[in-house]
Amino acid sequence: MSKTIESINTKIAAGKARIVRADEMTRIVRERGARRAAEDVDVVTTGTFGAMCSSGVWLNFGHTDPPLRMSRVWLNDVEAYAGVAAVDAYLGATQASTAVGIGYGGAHVIEDLLRGRPVVLRAVSRGTDCYPRKRILTEVRLEDLNFALLANPRNGYQRYDAAANSGSETIQTYMGKLLPRLGNVTFSGAGELSPLNNDPGYRTVGIGTRVFLGGAPGWITGPGTQHNPETGFGTLMVQGDLKAMSADFLRAAFMPGYGPTLYIGLGVPIPVLDEEVAAAAGVSDADISVTIRDYSVSSRNRPGLKTASYAELKAGMIDLNGRTVPAAPLSSFHKAREIAETLKQWILDGEFELTQPAASLPRRAQVRPLEMRRPTNGASKRSGDYGGRKVATGGRGKNVKESEAGANTEAAAEARGQCGNGRQNNEAASLWNEGQCFHCGACLSICPSHVFRRDADWRVTADEALCNDCGRCDGVCPAGALAKNGGAP
Ligand code: SF4
Ligand code: SF4
Repeated sequence: MSKTIESINTKIAAGKARIVRADEMTRIVRERGARRAAEDVDVVTTGTFGAMCSSGVWLNFGHTDPPLRMSRVWLNDVEAYAGVAAVDAYLGATQASTAVGIGYGGAHVIEDLLRGRPVVLRAVSRGTDCYPRKRILTEVRLEDLNFALLANPRNGYQRYDAAANSGSETIQTYMGKLLPRLGNVTFSGAGELSPLNNDPGYRTVGIGTRVFLGGAPGWITGPGTQHNPETGFGTLMVQGDLKAMSADFLRAAFMPGYGPTLYIGLGVPIPVLDEEVAAAAGVSDADISVTIRDYSVSSRNRPGLKTASYAELKAGMIDLNGRTVPAAPLSSFHKAREIAETLKQWILDGEFELTQPAASLPRRAQVRPLEMRRPTNGASKRSGDYGGRKVATGGRGKNVKESEAGANTEAAAEARGQCGNGRQNNEAASLWNEGQCFHCGACLSICPSHVFRRDADWRVTADEALCNDCGRCDGVCPAGALAKNGGAP
């Protein structure tokens, strides 16, 4: 027999669906077999609650008056990335405070916001004609923000290696404190409760799947970064509205010696479509193995010491090199079960409908290491040549000294065999680089000589013969397609 997500939603709406947690499904499949389990169970809920360093929030602060284009932003002295639009920023969970160091970071700011605490917002700008303000210092709460999106590029790890330390000294890592001479083992993940372990072939979990995220509904938006399904290391990219979340399922943490990180609760529903899905969701801790790696080796290829199942690891003691050593999780199984149970209740209460994925997760992907190479493109601040791209000089904003900007423009023009103020020194040089033009149309309203025209399809062309060298188009072209753009083409 087989079911569809639609038919399961109909059963849920009628109050006739049977929902179980993944750990309950393990027992059901073991006792009754996958075929009967597929008949009896409609949805399996999973859960995981672990440190997600690869996470953060997209924030929109709204505009001040006069407005400011934030070029650098700090929240409680933790810098957020502001290389986007005027009042948007991305605050990464592991970013450390510039004032107090690694004991407080982006994750703590996120939790403080979630708990309704005031956060000091500081931002600076170089000032532009459209955004003249140069600095602000204020206080914001989550409710003041227009937008706060928890964006987690990598979560739901299908598998994560365990850690030990064969060295002679204790080391502090993102896998926690590792005692010398293989004194302990730490591990992560939720084993049989973990989302992708219950659907390792991505039969039901895909892009657009609605999930539990941080205590609120969220979404799978794609494969996670470093998604590597062929080696069993699939991951999920997820996002959700921070304002709807709960600090019960989103907690800042600090790994001594490493820095801040954010614990995020994720739960994924698995619709039991058929016997194959049921069999996969019947996975047990004994079926899932990870490699215990030696973190004393400073290499991306840390040697494996042995393979162990979650059943062995969760037993609390494990044999390693002839000794029995303690093994402890970094993720919370308690929270993972609570998440799976909460999601189960949401579905039973009719508060959470299952969604059909818009697309499947990739079943093939390659994760390459970063190779260290000597740069060959001469990229440097001085040359302004980044792999063949000519950088528009004189474009550093209002606080660039006029003389400096002029010198840069002239130097760039000289390099092109042109005069920085026009074409009089090289009449043969092209005004307009058609290949560089992306037809935005910004030049159309500028030129008094009607050099630039567009067709019905908004394709821009230039009749250079009409140009009288007035210079008004200097600094107009965002694509660097005009000779008067301070550097290009
Ligand atoms: S402004 Fe530049 S990119 Fe835009 S249409 Fe004109 S030449 Fe093309
Ligand atoms: S220099 Fe003046 S006339 Fe020539 S293209 Fe630019 S705006 Fe038009």
